[in-house]
Amino acid sequence: MTPTPVWPVDASRPDPTVIEAAAACLRNGGLVAFPTETVYGLGVDALNVEAVRRLFVAKGRPATDPLIVHVPGVAQLESVAHSVSVLAWQLAEAFWPGPLTLVLPRRPIVPLEVTAGKETVAVRAPSHPVAQALLAVARTPIAAPSANRFSRPSPTTAQHVLDDLNGLIDGVLDAGPTNIGLESTIVDVTRTPPHVLRPGGLKLETLRRFVPNLVVSERFLEESIAADAPGMFLKHYAPCAELRLYEGPREAVLAAMRLAAGALAQAGRRVGVLALAGEAVHFAGLPVEWADLGPESEPEEIGRRLFAALRDLDARGVEVIFARLPAPEGLGWAVRDRLRRAAAGHIIKVE
Ligand code: AMP
Ligand code: MG
Repeated sequence: MTPTPVWPVDASRPDPTVIEAAAACLRNGGLVAFPTETVYGLGVDALNVEAVRRLFVAKGRPATDPLIVHVPGVAQLESVAHSVSVLAWQLAEAFWPGPLTLVLPRRPIVPLEVTAGKETVAVRAPSHPVAQALLAVARTPIAAPSANRFSRPSPTTAQHVLDDLNGLIDGVLDAGPTNIGLESTIVDVTRTPPHVLRPGGLKLETLRRFVPNLVVSERFLEESIAADAPGMFLKHYAPCAELRLYEGPREAVLAAMRLAAGALAQAGRRVGVLALAGEAVHFAGLPVEWADLGPESEPEEIGRRLFAALRDLDARGVEVIFARLPAPEGLGWAVRDRLRRAAAGHIIKVE
């Protein structure tokens, strides 16, 4: 195996020579991982069918799971999509570049391999200066899913990318940890009213200011609507360890978690807890591994740390991870969604 080269770059002022080399690699059909403000993406030239096929193989991603196409900004939206409604333009103008993906009718120039055979395409303009620089120099739309092996937690550092894909891809631009840590919010604007297909880094409350009748439902977790958002498999973002997810009043949940974690630890299992600041005291005296998500009052910090925490507990050999679901508000929607998927939809309800 040839190890994948790592190209360090400054996150705010990336060296043009490094960006040029990465862009040349992309133009030649290469697979290049790069930071966005959400997570690290695995980029290919979206118009190169061979490269797109290689990307699916490298990730182990099913061909039925479409990719998001990245463009520099609003000016390039119509190069890959058409029939853009007034509302879709407003959303793109308000939130691009940023963590919002719009599903729109596909232009034929976008290969069906990218859209998993669909006549729609998911488009986003990332704000990270490295992603912006790469798009500007590559001069082609970049198809980029998260740079992890299929169904693993998304990567928020270049090391996470290497942990999953070393030797399978042609390079990684390393600009340090990503800022948001959760993937983009996906909105299907081909439907009236628009539907949220995945909650993410752009808060639903913020979107609603533009789209008061926005359709949001946690039903997107059910297999029955998998056809709407083909990649939204129930088992996703998963650590190797089993995730036990709790919901209910805080004190009751923490007590139930302590009881169950204690019993497992006593039985000789390696137990981990995905904990908010101040919760450690509830597990005092138990031999459990900790991953600190930060204070409950700082949802941005929780989002930033979530995937790294899941990977970290795995790396420490934990077999069972305990976690508490946050409330469905703000970024809590996205964190809930990722945790529910990581637990394959299974939730332990405590009264
Ligand atoms: P990822 O790039 O791994 O964050 O995943 C991209 C996700 O975007 C896919 O798993 C789909 O759920 C969604 N998506 C991409 N293209 C479309 C599309 N044309 N229609 C509906 N959902 C899409
Ligand atoms: Mg992904």
